[in-house]
Amino acid sequence: MRPESLYPLFKPLSALKGVGPRLKPALERLAGEHVADLLWLLPSGQVDRRYRPRVAEAQPGRIATLTVRIHQHVAPPSRNRPYRVICGDDTGTMVLTFFHARADYLTRTLPEGEVRVISGLVERYNDELQMTHPDHMVPESELETVLRVEPVYPLTHGVTQKVLSKLVVAALADAPELAEWHDASLMARRTWPSWRTALAQAHGPERADDLDPHAPARQRLAYDELLSNQLALALVRRGMRRAKGHPIQGDGTLRQKVLRALPFTLTGSQETALGEIAADMESDLRMLRLLQGDVGSGKTVVALLAMLAAVEADGQAVLMAPTEILARQHLKTIEPLAKSAGVEVAVLTGREKGKTRAAILDALKDGTVKIVVGTHALFQDEVAFQDLRLAVIDEQHRFGVHQRLELAAKGHAVDVLVMTATPIPRTLMLTAYGDMDVSRLLDKPAGRQPVDTRVMAANKLGAIAEGIARQLDGGARAYWVCPLVEESEKLDLAAAEDRFRQLQGLFGDRVGLVHGRMKGADKDAVMADFKSGKLDVLVATTVIEVGVDVPEATVMVIEHAERFGLAQLHQLRGRIGRGRGASTCLLVYQPPLGEIARKRLKILRETEDGFRIAEEDLKLRGAGELLGTRQSGLPEFRLVDLDAHQDLLAMAARDAQMVLEMDPELKTPRGAALRTLLYLFERDGAIKFLRSG
Ligand code: ADP
Ligand code: MG
Repeated sequence: MRPESLYPLFKPLSALKGVGPRLKPALERLAGEHVADLLWLLPSGQVDRRYRPRVAEAQPGRIATLTVRIHQHVAPPSRNRPYRVICGDDTGTMVLTFFHARADYLTRTLPEGEVRVISGLVERYNDELQMTHPDHMVPESELETVLRVEPVYPLTHGVTQKVLSKLVVAALADAPELAEWHDASLMARRTWPSWRTALAQAHGPERADDLDPHAPARQRLAYDELLSNQLALALVRRGMRRAKGHPIQGDGTLRQKVLRALPFTLTGSQETALGEIAADMESDLRMLRLLQGDVGSGKTVVALLAMLAAVEADGQAVLMAPTEILARQHLKTIEPLAKSAGVEVAVLTGREKGKTRAAILDALKDGTVKIVVGTHALFQDEVAFQDLRLAVIDEQHRFGVHQRLELAAKGHAVDVLVMTATPIPRTLMLTAYGDMDVSRLLDKPAGRQPVDTRVMAANKLGAIAEGIARQLDGGARAYWVCPLVEESEKLDLAAAEDRFRQLQGLFGDRVGLVHGRMKGADKDAVMADFKSGKLDVLVATTVIEVGVDVPEATVMVIEHAERFGLAQLHQLRGRIGRGRGASTCLLVYQPPLGEIARKRLKILRETEDGFRIAEEDLKLRGAGELLGTRQSGLPEFRLVDLDAHQDLLAMAARDAQMVLEMDPELKTPRGAALRTLLYLFERDGAIKFLRSG
């Protein structure tokens, strides 16, 4: 239950005075739906209104606040001329100008003969001092509200600075005093203010320094958010790691059989990873390990051997893939190998229906099937196991923190191995996974040849097609990846279909098309034809659709390469260079090429090292943007600037560990304050992992 002290902050924005049906949606787009969300919207600039000259001294080009008497209103002679208000003090006069003015409003706000405080940019125009659309025009009694440093907020259409500032002030007034959740000595060392003071300072920047991410108030707020993130991850992890009852100790017989059946020997890092996984499974704590390896580094084999360890111990194992096509792909790799050890493998996706489905469900329940490969369908309620011991989750290039939470919430006491092809830089790793155990596959399987990557302009498309024709005659197979049209599956499809027909004109029925809107079975049929060699050219729309292993494919054309991200291009290219033949990747761009896109393509030409590519990507885009993409599933931070607050992240990870060592149930006064922190950042999902939560 959310602590009562936070109720005012979790009221809807409409609870604030002045937020009506027009403003609410704009504010929600800008900040979020609760009052608290306004607090997290920190100013990006400031306007110092403390310069308070007499009229004659006012320097053009500066923001000034002046006390003046209103002399005279001068209505414009024509519509495209401004409305003018003459005013001044005993040192001189000044003209306030307004375009498209409403005279009645101005006569009310600036009555002739009265004294008013005005604030805005001083200009000189035709020898006159002038101020166009002053930001503030108030009676003298309100001088103090104007005479200060005003925060400037990032805005969305439909919200003005004035309105937003007012609402933030109201939200700040609603912010309660909360018990301190940070360690007192840390606070002292860093000279951090209390939470409420930090908010007030961050929203009331007085000097330029106050906007710096390293300003104490901003640091403190960032640390609040980071600590809540790390604490939540650590809680989930601890919750998931609780003793699992029966440690898994296989006798190695099944694994030996499969190893003998493999047409290759394992790489050093595959061996190491397997050792680490086996040790985790043998321990009586649940495993929560990330297996990180580039596309083609051989994760699937490692997963299979881990699953066999569970089967040796008389348990069951699942392998879950993010898409139907990848599930089938895994099945194809795994099934023949498992068979060589006499182990049956079943598949369960949304496509298994009726009797087939019922039979699989039965076999899982009574334990006749030991290994099942599938999609998210595996986690539906009706799926029950006799004795599930290991879940392998293949995330490919998606992140699925939520899926893991779901799994944990189901309470299966299973070991979890997460496979990811995303070479996540260390910083981001910590924010997405916390201090999770990691095995990395660094060396590529032997016999792989580097991919020859070339960058070409789209006007050479004719020559490219000819070149490919020659390669096809030589027995090659090619992927042709179609332009990614932003946010429009329909347009993606249209572009792919056009290209498909055009290539068909050149290569006849050796060309196939696979896209996101096809039915599962149709996709599989096309893929199977490409794999068997019935098709030589596969036109594809999205990344996922080519998430497939066809070692004979040695050519890849990526159209509009400039529209893809670095990581995506790397993933795509990873689909070739898997077999014995030399491979070529053609990155085709539409000129002119922007600076960032040029750099991206250059990096791809230079290296195939996924970790280096990830680091470069981070440099080019900045952590903020990498994390900013909602789809990535990575946490989004409101107060943290990962580039500036890197050191705080590592500190928060350690802090969270230490807190839970000493106070695993968050029962001490600091523990209670930390619970409030989790609620404050809406990470309370993690609280259910506390036994007494
Ligand atoms: P990933 O899942 O990491 O993308 P896979 O497990 O699908 O990679 O492996 C890609 C290909 O490499 C598969 O055809 C697999 O059989 C093969 N492979 C895996 N490990 C090795 C190895 N040690 N030596 C040679 N080939 C390997
Ligand atoms: Mg794979």
